[in-house]
Amino acid sequence: MDLVLMGLPGAGKGTQAEMIIDRYGIPHISTGDMFRAAMKEGTELGMQAKKFMDAGELVPDEVTIGIVRERLAKSDCNKGFLLDGFPRTVPQAEALDNILQEMDRSIDYVIHIDVDRNKLLARLTGRRICRNCGATYHMVFNRPQQDGACDKCGGELYQREDDNEDTVANRLEVNIAQQEPLLEYYSNNGVLQTIDGNRDIGVVFQDVDELIGSLSE
Ligand code: AMP
Repeated sequence: MDLVLMGLPGAGKGTQAEMIIDRYGIPHISTGDMFRAAMKEGTELGMQAKKFMDAGELVPDEVTIGIVRERLAKSDCNKGFLLDGFPRTVPQAEALDNILQEMDRSIDYVIHIDVDRNKLLARLTGRRICRNCGATYHMVFNRPQQDGACDKCGGELYQREDDNEDTVANRLEVNIAQQEPLLEYYSNNGVLQTIDGNRDIGVVFQDVDELIGSLSE
């Protein structure tokens, strides 16, 4: 069960990842989480990664590939793994293929949670926060009873600067450009499985579950 999970910000990748690891008991390997943990612990790796993460850039491939190689060698990956946030570049994808080949393994599926751009924009720009008590709402998923006012304290709801449409649209474009060559790479390799992520979480998971379940049959 060697899996890669892909999807744009707001596609619900985190939620699906949680459901997959819950059901199948494979480790969730997120390079972003690994870098953040290393930064918190103040390790050499953390210090190396910090410069790039703070600048909103990708950590160089040598570093990133190195930590994934080490992680995949651990015994909890024997039955499989779910990679998330890696690979992010074609050289990383090629390196992953090589690492797995050395282990006599190969990727079973790249699960791509695909959501329409407009829907992603609505999801990502929908967050509202109360100026007074900090409670959070969402204009699609968790609407306040009265537009613009906090249910708890009546405070004014506002939108964070980095949730505004221009910033979010820009972030999406960067991610789309990053993701495109990887989707092509995996499509050419015959392992890409695109799942319609425009539907409810549970319905999306049914498809994901059916797909992964077919591996153990
Ligand atoms: P994420 O939590 O996946 O959004 O990752 C947060 C940050 O960690 C990214 O903005 C990058 O700086 C770094 N990072 C995570 N995964 C990778 C990767 N596969 N390649 C390079 N940098 C990465």
